[in-house]
Amino acid sequence: MSGKPIPAGEHTLPALPYPYDALEPVIDAKTVEIHHDKHHKKYVDELNNTELALVKARGQKDWSRITCLENDLAFNGSGHILHSVYWTNMTRPGTGGAPGKHTQSYLDWYFGGVETFMAQFTATATKVQGSGWAILGYNPAFCRLELTQCEKHQDCTLQGTIPLLVCDVWEHAYYLNYQNDRAGYISRWWTLVNWADVENRFLQATHGKLPLSQ
Ligand code: MN
Repeated sequence: MSGKPIPAGEHTLPALPYPYDALEPVIDAKTVEIHHDKHHKKYVDELNNTELALVKARGQKDWSRITCLENDLAFNGSGHILHSVYWTNMTRPGTGGAPGKHTQSYLDWYFGGVETFMAQFTATATKVQGSGWAILGYNPAFCRLELTQCEKHQDCTLQGTIPLLVCDVWEHAYYLNYQNDRAGYISRWWTLVNWADVENRFLQATHGKLPLSQ
């Protein structure tokens, strides 16, 4: 995050933080390549197109497509944000360590422990109806973590929640290897979690103000 505002239509696809085959054997290289280079890129392209269409609409004071355009903005913008988090949330299998001290203390305090949190997250991801996500996020209004399902990229979310750990359960994330076995993908996905990235995102989201773990 540079802190600089991004002008309309100028979003770019972030590079993967590892080679396509880094997540094997949990997620195969072909799936990562298609997912990042085609699916994620399309959300970035469509987000840019939508923003430019909104610039044009404002210029012409033409609000006839505003509902459609702002729905596209929510869908593609959320898709871009969640995929950007998803890639950095993962690392080579078995190398992502354990939850950091702040993450751990907040998971203990609210969810009753990492194990219970993981059980709820697994159920959340497994039971998303259709395409969507499981999202662990920091909610500034509640000053704590919360866990929600998300349908598509934006529906059923808790307003204001900043995503820290997300699992993509759209079929494009796992279908080549796992076909309809979403539960198999999710159980192995845990071995990819990069807990240091989650901790860093938590610190950024809270500006380091974490009373439970001081
Ligand atoms: Mn996806």
